[in-house]
Formats: sequence, structure tokens, C-alpha cells
Amino acid sequence: AEEMVRKSELLSVVGQMAAGVAHEIRNPLTSLKGFVQLLKTHGGKQEYFSIMLSELNRIEFIISEFLVLAKPQAVVHRLCEIKPLLDHIIALAKTHAIMNNVQIITQYEPNLPCINAEENQIKQVFLNLLKNAIEAMPNGGEVRVSVRREETIVISFQDQGCGIPEDRIAKLGEPFYTTKESGTGLGLMVSFKIISHHGGNISVDSKVGVGTTFEVRLPVP
Ligand code: ADP
Ligand code: MG
Repeated sequence: AEEMVRKSELLSVVGQMAAGVAHEIRNPLTSLKGFVQLLKTHGGKQEYFSIMLSELNRIEFIISEFLVLAKPQAVVHRLCEIKPLLDHIIALAKTHAIMNNVQIITQYEPNLPCINAEENQIKQVFLNLLKNAIEAMPNGGEVRVSVRREETIVISFQDQGCGIPEDRIAKLGEPFYTTKESGTGLGLMVSFKIISHHGGNISVDSKVGVGTTFEVRLPVP
């Protein structure tokens, strides 16, 4: 089941909303968290406070996943080499991979051109896709990260995980769509948004019980 995932209209609305919400909520959230921590050390109903704190942590986490989209003024596109960028992401995901008994295999075509990108945003996308690939394999396996040049530059993340049922493909990238116990359902939404801002697209090819391949296509500058 190969399907192009296009949700840019929905996403631009969500993105604008996210920018506003993130900005408004972050500071009071931090101070509220401080008060909860203070109360917690001075007694009271401990279990309530623990719940409050963990809820606040979760909200903060959600906001931080949105925050990447909330700073349009900080967006600077530069030519970046793709190989060191991916190597950095793979290093970041290493402990996550080891804990899940997952091996990451890379395959980069030689003489790849640079991409024109906001480096931190592109890193966030690659990290989201790599984390999803790792999380799709609770019993371990291999993730293949490859880069090739076609009309565009194609960065591919292939796992041997649980796969995605065909009728769920359309849900990918919907805000808060998650099948994970502690997932946010924001990673793909943010990723689609970022890649569409870069003039690219993300496609997915998946088979239940066999695995999933996400491909990011970015224009050659
Ligand atoms: P989260 O990872 O927090 O759940 P995402 O937006 O990153 O949120 O992913 C949304 C959902 O898409 C996941 O919960 C999972 O069901 C599905 N998904 C994403 N990537 C994969 C993958 N590589 N293999 C299987 N399912 C995936
Ligand atoms: Mg994710």
C-alpha cells in the first residue's frame, strides 16, 4: 500500500494554532510546575501531587514537540550536507536502539548533493522517523537508513516492525493520532509540516507483520 501523504492545508491551520498555544502556555506552565514541586516537598496529598506533576510533564512535552514550529523568525535555510546530519541523528538514537535491540544500518550513495534546509527542523524530522522505526520493533530487528539521488534526494527509513494497516495510513499525521501507550501522536504531524515547508514530501509504504518504509523527498537545490 503506497500512498502519498498530503495534509498541508490541515497542517498549516494546526501549525498556526500550535504557535499561539505554545507561546501562551509555556511560561505559566513552568511557574505552575515550580509551585507543584514546592507543595510536594511540604506534604499534602502526595498522590495528587504526583499525578499533577506527571500531567504537567506531559503537557510540557507536548508543547515542546510543537515548539519547533512556533519560531518562524528563527528559521534559516542553509545548504547542509546530508551524511553528517544523519550520522548525528543516528548517534542520538543509539541508546534508544540498543535498548530495543535494534541495529541501524546506513547506506549512503556517494557524491550526494547538499540540501537547502533549516538544519534543526530537518534533524527533528529524521529523529522522529528513526524513533518511530525503532519503536515499531519491540522485539528488535534492523532499521535501514539510506539516501539516494533521483529527481529529488530520497532519504529512506525502512524497518522490520509491526507495519501499519492500510485503513490507518490516512490517519498518519493527524494531530494526537497514536497507537502507543505513551505516544504524543505529534511526531508525524510535525514532520509532514516541516517537509512540506521545505518543498518536499513524505511517502509511506507498509505491510502488516513485514515492516514499514518512510521516504522523505527533498528538492535538489
Ligand atoms: P507517536 O510516535 O508519538 O505515536 P507519531 O506521529 O510519530 O506519534 O506516529 C503516529 C502513529 O503512527 C504511531 O503511534 C504508530 O501507530 C504509527 N507509526 C508511525 N511510524 C510507524 C512505523 N515505522 N511503524 C509502524 N507504525 C508507525
Ligand atoms: Mg513518533
